[in-house]
Amino acid sequence: MRRKLAAGNWKMNGSRAALAELTALEPAAAGAAEVLICPPAPLVALAADHAQAVQIGGQDCHANQSGAHTGDTSAAILKDAGAGYVILGHSERRADYGESDADVRAKCDAAWEAGLTAVVCVGETLDQRESQNTLDIIGGQLAGSIPDAATGHNLVVAYEPVWAIGTGKIPTLEQIGDVHDFIRAKLERRFGEGVGLSVRLLYGGSVKPSNAQEIFGVSNVDGALVGGASLKAADFNQIIAALNAEA
Ligand code: PEP
Repeated sequence: MRRKLAAGNWKMNGSRAALAELTALEPAAAGAAEVLICPPAPLVALAADHAQAVQIGGQDCHANQSGAHTGDTSAAILKDAGAGYVILGHSERRADYGESDADVRAKCDAAWEAGLTAVVCVGETLDQRESQNTLDIIGGQLAGSIPDAATGHNLVVAYEPVWAIGTGKIPTLEQIGDVHDFIRAKLERRFGEGVGLSVRLLYGGSVKPSNAQEIFGVSNVDGALVGGASLKAADFNQIIAALNAEA
């Protein structure tokens, strides 16, 4: 049985004052679904000290655990700060920093070595969808970004169509279901049925209180990775409630 997961990606937003939003998530986070917030790196330790039922994660990590990498944060440092998760291969990092599948794979190895669960993001651009390449792209990203030692505990996969992130546009429910079924089948084929069936699959891209319930009803959608609508507890609580209703 896969535990549902509502994950919030604060991106480069937030402040110490915004940690009050975490407190406002606690009642909903005590429900059936797991709740995760990934704040900017300087807030991870504070958030982890602040949180009770809410889990805390990083938004990226370096492929090394320590060393001369100015400005970077390692998985070991995130773990020490109280994180349990790290988002890897978000499309904004793939676009802004040219992160390749091989880079994401190396970071994933580092996350696992440090004892973090990796939320590996995959997703097609609008051009790739319009040229009917979505499944090829997703298949390639899965194969290239996920190391061999995946388990249902150390891996979560987030399907995030690049064109749906922060745009208010979402794929049809059928399109979401097709990609999630495809990802499930790929994981089962590569890692075996036990692991393949236990990895949680999140949908991400313009999830809001108004569309969460219908998205959570799609097959193989085990939760969501949410950007903008995770910044305010009033919105994210409604998304968590919709997920708790499915759990
Ligand atoms: C994201 O950044 O992962 C995301 C899904 O953003 P938004 O919900 O704002 O589209």
